[in-house]
Amino acid sequence: MEQNNIPKDSTAAAKPADTAAITAASSSAPAVVPIQIQSKHDKMSTTIIEVKDLNIYFGATHAIKGVNMAIKQNSVTSIIGPSGCGKSTLLRTLNRMHEISGGVTITGSVIYEGNDILTTDATELRKRIGMVFQKPNPFPSMSIQENVVAGLRYTGVHSSSFLRETTEKCLIKAGLWEEVHDRLKEPAIKLSGGQQQRLCIARALAVNPDVLLMDEPASALDPISTAKIEELIFELQPNYTIVIVTHNMQQAARVSSETAFMYLGQLIEFGKTKDVFSNPKHKQTESYITGRFG
Ligand code: ADP
Repeated sequence: MEQNNIPKDSTAAAKPADTAAITAASSSAPAVVPIQIQSKHDKMSTTIIEVKDLNIYFGATHAIKGVNMAIKQNSVTSIIGPSGCGKSTLLRTLNRMHEISGGVTITGSVIYEGNDILTTDATELRKRIGMVFQKPNPFPSMSIQENVVAGLRYTGVHSSSFLRETTEKCLIKAGLWEEVHDRLKEPAIKLSGGQQQRLCIARALAVNPDVLLMDEPASALDPISTAKIEELIFELQPNYTIVIVTHNMQQAARVSSETAFMYLGQLIEFGKTKDVFSNPKHKQTESYITGRFG
């Protein structure tokens, strides 16, 4: 697969997360809850992934219904919606993780760099489009350093100097270097949950992806660790395309430039985060963001 020319080593880190506020939602809330977002994500950028008329069936369950979606390069896109609406299925399709479940039928296409993700080599694809899961999943028998470079080793890279440099570079990018640089040989499972999640992000970065998919990456973490993950997403955004599934609407508002609202397998609304939250076009979006269901 052709590589792009995006500089991945830029140290031009973004400032901490934009301020955003969602007032408490309740059934007695006004029709649209006011949200203030000082977004600096308004730049135009090109499409990196285009989902076209995607349908996914798990047996008789029609999980994704005719979804069309253009994901912008070097942006953060949140996917929100009530449980079971298809968020994770859509996210996992972007690097073919859905295939791990049997009995899946798919129609439509997902275009990335001119090729349909659904018919390209999954191993090659996952080098370009990485995944971070809800629960931190470092390899338990490996050291911190070995975890970072596990994917690289798997792809046949064995140069010890390159692996060392990559370890440092990726731990710096993941905001973990300062905390672990003097114990790289210790087991990764000795780290806290938040540190383990940042280690998993470092591991995903080590194979030099374009896109990072994150499935509720902070939902198992405490508030301080969550804030660190959100800050990290902001720092990575100038150089990576990030798609994040989140149940936390404040988090979607804080970290993303684009937001997709899904309901019952359909993409109901997709647009700039500030528009989706402050001026939703669809009644269902408005009801969801004001806490009337979910
Ligand atoms: P969300 O992430 O929004 O909670 P999911 O994408 O996990 O929703 O699920 C969407 C629908 O697809 C649900 O009805 C769920 O039960 C179904 N589903 C998801 N994964 C599988 C699977 N592996 N096998 C069968 N049904 C599945």
